[in-house]
Amino acid sequence: MPPYDFDIGIIGGGAAGLTVASGAAQLGAKTLLIEKEKVLGGDCLHYGCVPSKTLIRTAQVYHLMKNSKAYGLPAVKVPPVDFQVVKRRIQSVIDTIQKHDSEERFCSLGAKVEFGEPSFVDEHSVRLNGKPVSAKNWVIATGSSPSIPATEGLDQTPYITNKEIFYLDRLPSSMVILGAGPIAIEMAQAFSRLGTKVTVVQRSGQILTKEDKDMADEIMKVLISEGVTFHLNVSVLRLKDLGSEKEIVLKDGEAKSVSLKAEQILVAMGRDPNVKALGLEGIGVEFDRKGIKVDDRLRTTQKHIYAAGDITGAYQFTHAAGYEGGIVVSNAIFHLPRRANYTFLPWCTYTDPELASVGMNEKRAREAGIDYSVWTEPFKNNDRSLAEGEEVGKIKLLLDRNEKPLGIQILGPQAGELLSEWVAVFNGKVKLSTLAAAVHPYPTLGEISKRVAGTLLSRKIFSDRVRKGLKFFFNLKGRACAGDFPVA
Ligand SMILES: Cc1cc2nc3c(=O)[nH]c(=O)nc-3n(C[C@H](O)[C@H](O)[C@H](O)COP(=O)(O)OP(=O)(O)OC[C@H]3O[C@@H](n4cnc5c(N)ncnc54)[C@H](O)[C@@H]3O)c2cc1C
Repeated sequence: MPPYDFDIGIIGGGAAGLTVASGAAQLGAKTLLIEKEKVLGGDCLHYGCVPSKTLIRTAQVYHLMKNSKAYGLPAVKVPPVDFQVVKRRIQSVIDTIQKHDSEERFCSLGAKVEFGEPSFVDEHSVRLNGKPVSAKNWVIATGSSPSIPATEGLDQTPYITNKEIFYLDRLPSSMVILGAGPIAIEMAQAFSRLGTKVTVVQRSGQILTKEDKDMADEIMKVLISEGVTFHLNVSVLRLKDLGSEKEIVLKDGEAKSVSLKAEQILVAMGRDPNVKALGLEGIGVEFDRKGIKVDDRLRTTQKHIYAAGDITGAYQFTHAAGYEGGIVVSNAIFHLPRRANYTFLPWCTYTDPELASVGMNEKRAREAGIDYSVWTEPFKNNDRSLAEGEEVGKIKLLLDRNEKPLGIQILGPQAGELLSEWVAVFNGKVKLSTLAAAVHPYPTLGEISKRVAGTLLSRKIFSDRVRKGLKFFFNLKGRACAGDFPVA
């Protein structure tokens, strides 16, 4: 009889857990996947990426309808949004993707799926639905939940988080959003475009604090022009339920208090790791406020127990969770030591315009004490961007002292899609001269990447030195516009 029931047990059926389960089962490991909800898919499918991007697209189309005149079309008065219908569209996209993340599919791959909330009883066993289950290796992939601050009155005041916002019965007339990270800012723009009066409340002086200020400020300007109000550098003193409305009292930098009233409050102030009830304290798996501690092979303080995804508190993205799931499969099933490396982990905030990033931005370069230079190219110089009616944004390339690329930030239309070329450039160690010489189709937004790489090289090619050399060797005659026109 084998000493353990399973080769690998995975707790959490979201992006990280599903990646491990699919990889391990297909490699022939006896795999158990445990999920506490009734369906697989996790936050991304049900309360995160999928509903938010579906809502953002709906809001974008509505915004275009309202702004038809800017495209040479007749002005139209659009009827108000019926959120029940929007909600049905969101649900239909979720339902389609759900088939890919179904219990049946994972069973067909060879994994056993169980629903329930397990708790560790020893380093190799959990108690699940009253029964003990053991595995040689375990993976904790339980994700994260919205962080709820201990602000006075919040526990007495109804509020929503990402769990409820896509499932509202009707569009709120007004909403105060606490926090200004990617989730907060994406929702601020989407709901404002749909017709909600949105106010964003932020502790620090910048939205999207991980991004460079110039890029984040551009996004804030766009949102302000669309009607979103911002209160930066403020703290929330207290909240109160007034019945049909809620009151939010702020204190600004000069200690003046400001009272806001709104139908809904969205709390989007970061994420807490889902560690409760797992019994980690009893088996020596260390964690803190941010998440479970892991080494670069994603092993916890118990080497046969791994953690992947949001639960580690590191890079809280679906693609990071998937990447980490792959690292766990390599280490736990293949026994090939593989380390996580986040140097070129990309990400994108799906505002309009989008803000996408790979490698270092100016903030991170400064923090690391790296000397850098910045090369930019605005979207207003890109022909396709103008044809699309998009003039906001720029691409920003950071180079080190040896002119080696450190990172790229793109603020502009379809920035997330445009970033993929740079993901290949960075991971494939492609030279900027190769990118600049590669023919890109005209007119495309992607030409902006070729152009920013080209500006660096054109400085060298069109230098005085090269000009003098060519003049010397080939007797070139120099500038024509100011000279006399030869008459026959
Ligand atoms: C509004 C919003 C928008 C987002 N948009 C994007 C985006 O555009 N792009 C992007 O890359 N990322 C986005 N994210 C982040 C992304 O959703 C997460 O990074 C991703 O879901 C993390 O995957 P995970 O597997 O770690 O956790 P999850 O997907 O949360 O999966 C964890 C699973 O574990 C289960 N679980 C929890 N506790 C237990 C327990 N005790 N026992 C058993 N099961 C348990 C949960 O029910 C869940 O199914 C967004 C997040 C939010 C909230």
